[in-house]
Amino acid sequence: MLGLMQDTPLTLSSLLDHAARFHGEVEIVSKDPGGLTRSNYAQVAKRARKLAAALRRRGLKEGDRVASLALNTIRHLELYYGVTGAGGILNTVNPRLFPEQILFILRHAENRMVFFDPAFGKLLEPLAAQAPNVETYVCLSSVQEMPDLLLPNLVCYEDLMDVEAEGAWTPVSENAGAILCYTSGTTGDPKGVLYSHRSLVLHAFIATSADGMAVSRRDSILLVTPLFHVNAWGIPFSAAMCGAKLVLPGAAVDGESLFNLMRAERCTFSLGVPTVWLGFLDYVATHREELDLSGLALERILVGGSAAPRSLIERFDYMLGVYVIHAWGMTETSPLATVGTPLPEHAFLDRQARYDIQALQGRAIYGVDLRIVDADGAPTPHDGVAVGDLQVRGPWVVQRYFKGEAPATTEDGWFPTGDVAKIHPNGYLQLTDRSKDVIKSGGEWISSVDLENAAIAHPDVREAAVIGVPHPKWQERPLLIIVPTPESMPNKAEILQFLASRVARWQVPDDVVIVDALPHTATGKLLKSKLRETYRSYLDEATEPA
Ligand code: AMP
Repeated sequence: MLGLMQDTPLTLSSLLDHAARFHGEVEIVSKDPGGLTRSNYAQVAKRARKLAAALRRRGLKEGDRVASLALNTIRHLELYYGVTGAGGILNTVNPRLFPEQILFILRHAENRMVFFDPAFGKLLEPLAAQAPNVETYVCLSSVQEMPDLLLPNLVCYEDLMDVEAEGAWTPVSENAGAILCYTSGTTGDPKGVLYSHRSLVLHAFIATSADGMAVSRRDSILLVTPLFHVNAWGIPFSAAMCGAKLVLPGAAVDGESLFNLMRAERCTFSLGVPTVWLGFLDYVATHREELDLSGLALERILVGGSAAPRSLIERFDYMLGVYVIHAWGMTETSPLATVGTPLPEHAFLDRQARYDIQALQGRAIYGVDLRIVDADGAPTPHDGVAVGDLQVRGPWVVQRYFKGEAPATTEDGWFPTGDVAKIHPNGYLQLTDRSKDVIKSGGEWISSVDLENAAIAHPDVREAAVIGVPHPKWQERPLLIIVPTPESMPNKAEILQFLASRVARWQVPDDVVIVDALPHTATGKLLKSKLRETYRSYLDEATEPA
């Protein structure tokens, strides 16, 4: 007989079991409205098992969906393991989406239960009648903190936990769905990406690797990336895999709160989108004299979701001696795909040359294969010159969107990312553009098409184009460019007010430009690349979103 290895299923519960058994005392800290809550892997595992038992008792069947609308707290982390440990699928919903999008997701995913932070209860009230699939609403709070809400079958999370005995995990196949995350990155309705237990565990392995995120037992991780955004970049799983301390900031992601939490909890590693870090650096720069920087244990941060500005990389280095790891990924890639850890030859570069390298999007990690293709789909060389549409494939890259009829990949199995890039001979990816026209402000997507549709509804607007223009704080903000209807005298403030009644407040464009004509392609499509070029420096002053 040939020898063969054991066929142990790669399930999420195995990660938490490992953490509870071998790193049980390692702390998990969360900043809640009432102050800091301290737990550890052993307690989280115990409570997640209780939750799994409670869910089963309430009739949750394998593959049923359960939604969360919550920030980074211990209770939300418990849901990650409790729901999936009961064989369910946790659908993490971004509470900052427009209510119609939240409703679309709750219905499309056919969620049977919704767990929510008390702060999001009011947001759910008007949606409940239109989401009859949701049988139970669970408020993530103690009985004392429960707000008065008009929601059907409203239950308090701690009540649920109090009455149920700890149970076993529901055995599931490693290929069963575990977490469902919707992307609003493309136009039209949000699309669901369903991660399997196996894909998430494999992703966790790579995140703990030295050229991944190098997450280890020696880390105390400040998890700024929301748990509703691509599984907080997989940290809940990679941290459990190696027993890293987890620090969850709740709603407090301003520079001062992050600094204080980071120092108090001796955080060595943190992750987030550039906007968060710009706020953090501004706080440190302004309060430099009074801050005790020597108390900071931070060694490195991982930045992604939008391009990390070179200035951010540089400021982290010279102000704090912190190394910025620039990574690229998408909801569809779980998200880790390329990571910018240095090569041996970079050790001898002067600082400015090193920042140039760090500003690139990094190199492919094992598990994700990359290529760029031309307009005919033919691969182009990785010579640092040719620019093409970026395609990826691998065991944690989407195959088909949730309930999607057609595959999300090309006939030969590659996922077209919608990003446009170069690949350098040493493997570094460099994003040069986006073929999709959405805008990304502070790490959140804004659909230009939705804004254009809203603008065109105004009687004075004949044609409208919305583009993202670079912004020092939000990376991009929307700018509306309109061609007025004949004989009309559009008033900018009035148009913006008109939009404010139709889209979320933070999505309202920062300004309106009135022009005689918009540039078009030969087939009559708006030539957005031309507009982006013309208005590149339009918002050179930092402004808050309207
Ligand atoms: P999401 O699915 O919301 O995570 O968005 C994924 C998209 O964000 C990618 O397709 C890119 O357009 C953009 N993105 C992510 N990381 C980076 C990065 N490091 N540099 C530039 N764009 C990025």
